[in-house]
Amino acid sequence: MTRADRPVIDLRGVVKTYGEGETVVHAVAGVDLTVERGDYVAIMGASGSGKSTLMNIIGCLDVPTAGVYRLDGIDVRRLTDGQQSKIRNRKIGFIFQSFNLIARTSALRNVELPLAYAGVGARERRERAAAALARVGLSDRVGHNPSQLSGGQQQRVAVARAIATEPVLLLADEPTGALDSHSTDDVLRLFDSLSANGRTIVVITHENEVAAHAKRVLRMRDGVVEHDDRQVGVHDLPPRYQPTAAA
Ligand code: ADP
Ligand code: MG
Repeated sequence: MTRADRPVIDLRGVVKTYGEGETVVHAVAGVDLTVERGDYVAIMGASGSGKSTLMNIIGCLDVPTAGVYRLDGIDVRRLTDGQQSKIRNRKIGFIFQSFNLIARTSALRNVELPLAYAGVGARERRERAAAALARVGLSDRVGHNPSQLSGGQQQRVAVARAIATEPVLLLADEPTGALDSHSTDDVLRLFDSLSANGRTIVVITHENEVAAHAKRVLRMRDGVVEHDDRQVGVHDLPPRYQPTAAA
């Protein structure tokens, strides 16, 4: 299998159990899931249905109790903790509800950080971080600290940070959960544009508006994927109806 056609995500019989005996919780109760390169997937489901647990597994922040997870062809079970964080840094760009930017640190520095972890030299790091910030429409805010930016701008910095390392997967957990409707639109348009450029995106959300942008929607219930549907989305509209990107 060549690099281009192996799935980004391949979960086989994945189970995650917490506790034991009478207090056992099957947070993820047997999930098979393949996500190909370039797909844009929304994971929905009620609170407690297992979304975050699944996201933690997909993001290599947690390991399954049973089953196999291959990220871009790599069986993550076989990795040491150190190798796992390296894979995480190299393969995945994370976007969180609460932005998770470092306070009192410029947007540019925030975006440079994952590149620094990846061992990219100072000069290239600065160039790539600046390019990522330009990509999200924030070239005029590179020197601003998070506290000097709106929520929507902070989330765009977080998107820049997530794409700066050119990861195979963008993984977002309720990325618009803390945003007003205007900033939500900005972030969703940005995702649309990244998807149109071939990025693989998995977004966890309980908002229909967010899921409407994805090409595929999974619905979780009691730790299993109850529905897995392809949908007509903004990406299928004729170009003149497609939203323009923020950058
Ligand atoms: P969601 O993100 O869809 O709200 P979660 O993945 O957070 O769902 O949780 C799924 C189930 O697993 C819930 O019943 C939750 O209480 C349980 N759970 C999640 N994390 C833990 C944990 N660290 N210890 C025990 N139970 C947990
Ligand atoms: Mg959750």
